[in-house]
Amino acid sequence: AEEQLRQAQKMEALGQLTGGVAHDFNNLLQGIGGSLEAVERRLEAGRTDIAQFSRAARVSVERAATLTQRLLAFSRRQPLNPDVLDLNVLVAGMADLVRRSVGESIRIELIPAEGLWHTWADANQVESVLLNLAINARDAMPDGGRLTIETSNTDLGEAEAAGLGMERGEYVTLAVTDRGLGMPPDVLERAFEPFFTTKPLGQGTGLGLSQLYGFAKQSGGHARIDSEVGKGTSVTLLLPRHLDTRVAVPADGAGPATMRE
Ligand code: ADP
Repeated sequence: AEEQLRQAQKMEALGQLTGGVAHDFNNLLQGIGGSLEAVERRLEAGRTDIAQFSRAARVSVERAATLTQRLLAFSRRQPLNPDVLDLNVLVAGMADLVRRSVGESIRIELIPAEGLWHTWADANQVESVLLNLAINARDAMPDGGRLTIETSNTDLGEAEAAGLGMERGEYVTLAVTDRGLGMPPDVLERAFEPFFTTKPLGQGTGLGLSQLYGFAKQSGGHARIDSEVGKGTSVTLLLPRHLDTRVAVPADGAGPATMRE
């Protein structure tokens, strides 16, 4: 009976939240409709000053697309486009954008692992996840602070892997750590749920961490959160190692070649 009650409460919460997203989505569609109407009226009147309205429509389209992409990632129906990936290169390439997104009060510390293995994953998704984690970290450090982005190689043993519901094996990890507010246990427990947010209306969608979780699972990896109130939060993405098979100098002496497994 207790389990049923929990389930009912969960469905109730999900219903409310789904309604919230439908409402947001509808607002965006109304905005796009309104802008297009304004464009039409101007064109009918022989005017060409439509840039402002077409821009407004485009911004709404982008926001709606972000919303649906995150939902798709959570439901693990996002079409992925995986490739061989060096997370150190990806992080270095994102550093400027991350810096601009979190502002000057946050100091960014990059700790790339030496000899980091390659992984096989969708670069766009990892970039989007990294940016979201950095923004969450910023929100958790309203007075500024240090944000660490660290990569490492991880060899998961049988027991540890089983505890995480994963296959044992070699993984590449990306960890984003802040020294901010941290999460109380009830927030930590629900953080991966889609639409779960503690942020004010219009500021949080509650989809960032659920996107991360769905993406990690769909990629054969895992996501975990370690958090302590008053100390900070560390979010780790584990992705499976990709093995490159390097072929030494071929017989014709044409030079080294690299082959993917
Ligand atoms: P959103 O950021 O839109 O709320 P997320 O899914 O990214 O959605 O996060 C869900 C909730 O988890 C946040 O509202 C916040 O309460 C908590 N949270 C996420 N990241 C952090 C963090 N770095 N520090 C403290 N709390 C966090």
